[in-house]
Amino acid sequence: MVISSGSSILDEPMTEYRVLKNYINGEWVESSSNRFKEVQNPALMKNIGKVPISNAEDVGNAVEAARDAFSDWRKTTPLARSRYLFRLKALLEDNFEEISRIGTVEHGKTIDESRGETRRGIEQVEVSTGIPSLMMGYNLEDIARGIDEYMIRQPLGVFACIAPYNFPWMVPLWFLPYAVATGNTYILKPSSEVPFSMTKLYELIDEVGFPPGVVNMVHGGREVVSALIKHPDIKGISFVGSTPVGRDIVYKEAAAHGKRVQAQCGAKNFFVVMPDAVIDPTVSSIMTSFYGNTGQRCLSGANLVLVGEDNDFNDQLIEKIMERAKSMRIGYGLDESVQMGPLRSPDKKISVLGYIDKGLEEGADLILDGRQFEIIGDYPDDCFLGASMFVNVTNAMVIAKDEIFGPVMSILKAKDLDEAIKMINDCPFGNSAMIFTSSGGDARKFQYETEAGNIGINIGIAAPMAFFPFSGMKDSFFGDLHGQGKDAIEFFTEQKVVIVRWF
Ligand code: NAD
Repeated sequence: MVISSGSSILDEPMTEYRVLKNYINGEWVESSSNRFKEVQNPALMKNIGKVPISNAEDVGNAVEAARDAFSDWRKTTPLARSRYLFRLKALLEDNFEEISRIGTVEHGKTIDESRGETRRGIEQVEVSTGIPSLMMGYNLEDIARGIDEYMIRQPLGVFACIAPYNFPWMVPLWFLPYAVATGNTYILKPSSEVPFSMTKLYELIDEVGFPPGVVNMVHGGREVVSALIKHPDIKGISFVGSTPVGRDIVYKEAAAHGKRVQAQCGAKNFFVVMPDAVIDPTVSSIMTSFYGNTGQRCLSGANLVLVGEDNDFNDQLIEKIMERAKSMRIGYGLDESVQMGPLRSPDKKISVLGYIDKGLEEGADLILDGRQFEIIGDYPDDCFLGASMFVNVTNAMVIAKDEIFGPVMSILKAKDLDEAIKMINDCPFGNSAMIFTSSGGDARKFQYETEAGNIGINIGIAAPMAFFPFSGMKDSFFGDLHGQGKDAIEFFTEQKVVIVRWF
């Protein structure tokens, strides 16, 4: 059913159909493949442009440009490199609103969610401008009489990033600014489902005037990924995406080709609510965590675990969530009154619908059916879905185990905190876990014993701030050093230890 919006829609950021190009050696170039993929705005189901499906030859050209640029770029002083990033940061601020609207149009998320994503991406550039301090080594005098020793960090060469569709703007910026700030050169492969915001980034990179070859972009899919992970001149790969691709294709193959790899992968995140939790802020956190970005976040809440037998508390909590979930405004993200946009594509909706069917088949009770929903405005419903809530879910059910990546909440029960922690630790994923409680002791026990890389105490987890590492565990992460923070500096540099006897 369609209802009238009653509020205005922001202007579209892209008014013309666009044919995208790769960015190699400081130039916009066509792919030699001559193959393209159409990209649709998922709210309007309208083609907004096409992206090249590049090949190994395009990757070869980008690597050659990046390799040639490296020898000069690494000698550019850290302060001079950081000036390029300062200029980029200023241009990003000037284009903040346009970038955010492109995010909504290509992905479907609400404009507020896009603005949040743009802000978090810019913060990475901001933090990377501190590279003269971040990259410093250390020294110690007199390790033996008259002899000193010191450690220096050096860049390695060409790095690449393979990005997912759910945060097309923010995720590449977890890596790119730190890679170039430390003196490496870079190749980005955005998700071909959402290539427009990264195209905007590269237009601004072009305007900054980085030396040709320092920052490159090759659009495409599997062929590009395969060429990147096998190319002998690429030193390391940052991957963000699903576990099967991250673990079995990128981590295993790239490591076998001698590369550094950080592969941030899929998730199944638990929210544990103790009976002493403060109910209203808990409900607010649950709403944004489970239904924000239409459930398409690696940190999205998926399993809500209610601890103990306080049925009054549990009923009240479920009722409050239900009330807010039912009244969520679903529609086009450029309508500022909308609270939940569409899923990214019709196949993603089909996948989530399959999980709803599976939950019913397994005997869980669907107390809020997201298949029944109203759209604010006159839009096709191919990608839209409402919020769903299942109760009587057990840890053994598929809906409690698989990453659904949509607006579906599974509600489980645990007799005590130990049982809730065991549920989390039995799950193969370990991206994040949250507890809501008034007990410091329970919160500390949760933080201490839970096998997840990001822990929230009385808060749903957003991506960690740029100056902290983004660390998953178990099937959520493969590699040694994480994205962002000090780990990013270590990932993109080689440590060299020098011993000097002074004459
Ligand atoms: P995906 O694995 O399908 O795609 C990720 C990238 O890999 C894309 O660039 C894609 O083109 C490429 N790719 C896809 N299939 C491939 C194949 N068979 N061979 C080679 N390359 C291939 O992931 P997605 O659907 O774009 O993103 C959603 C996933 O990303 C979810 O699982 C989510 O949890 C995860 N994610 C994780 C984090 C994190 O920090 N842990 C952050 C964001 C998203």
